Amino acid sequence: MKRINYWSSILLFLFLLTSCGEAEERNEPVDRTEESEMTAQNTQRDTDVNLTKEERDALMPADVVAEFKGGNERFIKDSLTPRNRQGRIQATAGEQNPKAMILSCIDSRVPVEEIFDQGLGDLFVGRIAGNFADEEMLGSMEFATKVAGSKSIVVMGHEECGAIKSAIAGVELGNISQMLSHIDPALEMTDNFPEDQRTVKNKEYVDAVIRNNVKHTIDKIKSDSDIIAEMVNNGEINIVGAYYNVDTGTVEWL
Ligand SMILES: [Zn+2]
Repeated sequence: MKRINYWSSILLFLFLLTSCGEAEERNEPVDRTEESEMTAQNTQRDTDVNLTKEERDALMPADVVAEFKGGNERFIKDSLTPRNRQGRIQATAGEQNPKAMILSCIDSRVPVEEIFDQGLGDLFVGRIAGNFADEEMLGSMEFATKVAGSKSIVVMGHEECGAIKSAIAGVELGNISQMLSHIDPALEMTDNFPEDQRTVKNKEYVDAVIRNNVKHTIDKIKSDSDIIAEMVNNGEINIVGAYYNVDTGTVEWL
């Protein structure tokens, strides 16, 4: 019995020795991967950084929109800029210099930063179902531009918007009813369709309301915010409309 235990121990020892050797061999390529990750991170630190206040202030509003166009092309090609998130967290802990404010719907298919290839600290994002601008959203926009120095306001609607469809269908439910009343002006603007064609099943009509809602929101921002209207008139900021295609990922500029 003792003899068997002795040989079992020897075999177990040899087995463990072999396993350790294999583990060490397996570890080697892992170490190399870590090295290459470090190199990649160092490269990212050089290319993916937050703008300083001076750099952001030097941007023209048109530069910001041009950058978003490039960012959306990268998004469609699935080649988003690798982000040094930890570096960005550290760089923005004490200050932020976002270049733009984007007003978007809450829709899960519209990940705002991603579709413009932007990172932590680059954007102010206001999200509400139906991307309309009420007083509180206008206040947020005034903060983003007048106080915090953003150069551009983008109002972005999207294809297949549930809020717009609900407004067309006249949904009445809890607080949703009040929320949808903000879409009414866009419904009124879209009067170039016969009554019987103003339905959620008519994609052309739904699309026209989505676009008119963006148009109306931009007009409302300018008419209801003296601060923003003045900044637009002075050329300090711009306001642009956008339409996001949920089936392709492309942003169309209106
Ligand atoms: Zn929506």
